[in-house]
This record gives sequence, structure tokens and C-alpha cells, in this order.
Amino acid sequence: MNIDAFRAAVKGAVITADEPDFGAAADAVLWNGRKQAAAPRLIVKAACVPDVIHAIRFAAEHELRVSPRGGGHNFSGIAAQRALVLDLSGLNHVWIDSEARIAEVGPAVTNGELASQLGARGLAFPVGHCATVPMSGYLLGGGIGWNSGAWGFGFANVDSIDVVLADGALRRVSETEDPEIFWAARGGGPEFFGVVVGYRLRLKALPRAMTTVVRVYPLAHVPQILAWKQAMMEVLPNHVEFTTAMTSAPGSDGAVKVALAIATVFADEPEEATAIHAKIAASAPEGALVVEPELATPFAVLYDIIGRFFPVGHRYAVDSSWSDDRAADYVAGLAEGIVSAPSAETFALAVVMPPNRPVPPDAAFSKHGAVWGCIYTVWEKSEDDAANLGWLRSTADKLEPSVTGHYVGEADLERPERRNGCHSPAALGRLRALQAIYDPKGMFLRPLPDTRNTSLPIAA
Ligand SMILES: Cc1cc2nc3c(=O)[nH]c(=O)nc-3n(C[C@H](O)[C@H](O)[C@H](O)COP(=O)(O)OP(=O)(O)OC[C@H]3O[C@@H](n4cnc5c(N)ncnc54)[C@H](O)[C@@H]3O)c2cc1C
Repeated sequence: MNIDAFRAAVKGAVITADEPDFGAAADAVLWNGRKQAAAPRLIVKAACVPDVIHAIRFAAEHELRVSPRGGGHNFSGIAAQRALVLDLSGLNHVWIDSEARIAEVGPAVTNGELASQLGARGLAFPVGHCATVPMSGYLLGGGIGWNSGAWGFGFANVDSIDVVLADGALRRVSETEDPEIFWAARGGGPEFFGVVVGYRLRLKALPRAMTTVVRVYPLAHVPQILAWKQAMMEVLPNHVEFTTAMTSAPGSDGAVKVALAIATVFADEPEEATAIHAKIAASAPEGALVVEPELATPFAVLYDIIGRFFPVGHRYAVDSSWSDDRAADYVAGLAEGIVSAPSAETFALAVVMPPNRPVPPDAAFSKHGAVWGCIYTVWEKSEDDAANLGWLRSTADKLEPSVTGHYVGEADLERPERRNGCHSPAALGRLRALQAIYDPKGMFLRPLPDTRNTSLPIAA
């Protein structure tokens, strides 16, 4: 099939490199204002699942690699490949069975949209922390969502997944149907060897009293804050999300750094939420500069607050990690790093997971631990790229002795070694073996975004 016949066969748009709007379309593949180097060869905006199947068959015939693109939100820009970029943002159906507490969603459905539609029915899901991120790559990477300490990670609440494989076959995979593909799609992220075109999700009851208290401390208090949180998570119910944000004090232009101790409670009754916050307050470290009053934070409010930390169009680079026995060193290292961040907008998060959190099912998502942390490097001008990227990487290097693994959804995948650090050696070996079975010609191989690897089985 030639390109004209392909264009005629699909409902969505096919944009070739010789078209005037190709450059803008290629830039729009990535959400990050910093566009990594790899430019697509062809962009296909799928309008429906048959479009995805047509695109896969076209790519197979022409020996093109395929890069499925959900929302292009991965900070490392890995969705932008020198390949056929298959934009799934048109696949945004939502079907909810409130009785059965099941939803079927297209990959493009965002956290904000899903939370809103479920909330209207008294239901919820461990959606991610930012409204604009779609289910697509969020769930494929694992999904560290709101209230994960009680609900489990996003992928653990996926019932089945609809996948188009490299041979164009559409399959519904689950624990009982093609379980090895299901295993790989739950946490495989960019190692996955197919296109996810739908998720069937197991839903939760919406916590009716979601409230948050924020305490602002000088950054030097980070060790005490961590010890307090670790002690509290031993005794609090799992439906408390306890995060430390290490950031610039408002109006200080980065000269003053603070630690925000943020406790969000996902309770059913307001009295329960208030009682939990009182328990947290009773052992809070001395020296808070500010203690905000308990604030009602339904998902819409949480998303409004979080959205302010991620201005659209700014330049981003992130790295995220898990830490266990050496969590105190890890979090102290994050705080130390933040002091010298070149940009005032840069911040780091550290989340203490409940010790008796749900055990994740066996899946490609094979790295997790007691504390999860992430460095969000945020700046505005391209001339500051080198300083910010250099700072991120030297900070991450210093943390490495206290790190037990990385989270593929927010790891610095532009570093060659990071891809392997996101999975256990056994899981990585199993992923490689499954890739060889289901994608023998490497259609879905994703080299690093800033490399032009011509030694791939399929020249791109
Ligand atoms: C502001 C912001 C906040 C975030 N907050 C969180 C958070 O709270 N929790 C969390 O876990 N993560 C979070 N993330 C990370 C985010 O979940 C991941 O980066 C995720 O990959 C984004 O999904 P996407 O569909 O936009 O991925 P893309 O950038 O489009 O793609 C990333 C990779 O996944 C592959 N991929 C994407 N969709 C498919 C598909 N349907 N089929 C096959 N392969 C696919 C792509 O080929 C690519 O290799 C956040 C990201 C941002 C930008």
C-alpha cells in the first residue's frame, strides 16, 4: 500500500514530512517545551482502533519503526522517535459501569477527565497527580497515582488491556488471556511491544472527605520531617498520602528554600479526616514557618494546585527513584541538591509509602520501595539547558548509592543506563524474551530520543 492509499484507508490524519504543518505537528508530539532531537518521519493521528491496525500494517510493509504516542508527557521525550509516530490522542472513549465498578477507557483519557467522570458517579481510580497526563503511558509505566498507598498503583487496578501487536492483531489481554502480554504491559513502559488501545479498569468508591494540610518548614528540617513521616505511616491508615516538597520559598527567586510537609487524607467522613490530621499534628516537628488550615481537596482542587507547578511550555528534565534502607540519605541528598538548583522553579518530591501498602502483583513494574522521590528540573530558556541538565545529572549521581531503582514514567531516560534501572534484572530479561516473540523485527524498539541508531533491525 502506498502513502495515498494508506491516507485514504484511515479516518484520522496522516502528516508527511513534506507537508507545511509537519514541523508544528512534530513539535506537538511532546508536551515538554524542550523538544528532544528525534524528529518523526511520519505522523498518524489515529481516530479509531482500525486506524491503529492500518498504521501497524503500513509500517510493517514499509519497514518503519512505530512509536505509539499517548500524550507525549514523558519528560524524556521518548515518544518522539525517528519513526512512524502513532498519535493516540483521538482514542478517548469513556464507558463506566457504576454497578460493576468497571470503566473501559481509551488511552487518551486524561487523569482529570477520568477523575471528573468517575467523581460524578461517586467512584474513583488511582489517577495520576496531574490532570493533563493520559492513561496511555501513565498506566503502561505503572501509574504512581493519588492514594496509591491504599489503592495500589494504577497498573494493579487494570483488569484487562486491548492491544494491537506488531502483526496487526487486536487482542484483549488479562491475567487469564495472553497473561504474558498483560504482564509486560503492566509497567513495561517504553519496553512494551504493542499499542495499547484500551484499558478496562477496576474502580474504587470515591472518598467523600479528601482534605489536605500543608506545613512549611525551613529546608534544614527535612531529616526531622522524614523521621516524623516514617513514624506516622506506621500508625496511620494507608489512605494518607504524605509528601515532602523541597522547593523555593514564594517570592524569593530561589534564594530561600523550604520544605512543604503535605498530608492529604482520603477519608469517607469529614470527622475522620480531621481526626487523622489532628493525630499528624500532635507529633509534627517544631519550627514550622506556616501551618495552613485543613483544606477540602477533591480531585479538581488537587489538580488545580499541582498544575501550577508544571507550567505549559517550560523546559523540563526529571529523574525519579526508589529508596529503601538508605531513604534518610536519599531524601537528605534531594534537599542538598535543591539548594544549588540553577532554576528557582525546580523542586523535588519525596513520598513515604505506608509500610503495609498493597503488594503489587507480579508485573514488568518490578522496582518499588519504601520511599519514592523525584527531581523536577524546570526552567524557561534553551540557553540554560546545559546548566539545568548538568545539575540534574550530577545531583542524581550523588544520590545513586541510596537508590534501589528508578520509575520508568519519570526517570531520566535520556541517560542510557536508566532504561535498565527501571526493571529488576529478571523482569528485564523476560521483557527482552517477550519482545523477541511478539516483535521479532523490532517495530516497537525505542532507542534514546536524542540518538539516531541506524543499527536497528529496521532502519528508521
Ligand atoms: C506534569 C506531569 C505529571 C506527572 N505525574 C505523574 C504521576 O503523578 N504519576 C505517574 O506515575 N506519572 C506521572 N507522570 C509521568 C507520566 O505518567 C509518564 O511520563 C507517561 O508516560 C505519560 O503518558 P503519555 O501517554 O503522555 O506518554 P508518552 O510520552 O506519549 O509516551 C511515553 C512512552 O510510552 C509509550 N506509550 C505511550 N502510550 C502508549 C500506548 N498506548 N501503547 C504503547 N506504548 C505507549 C510511548 O511509545 C513512549 O515510549 C507525570 C508527567 C507529567 C508531564
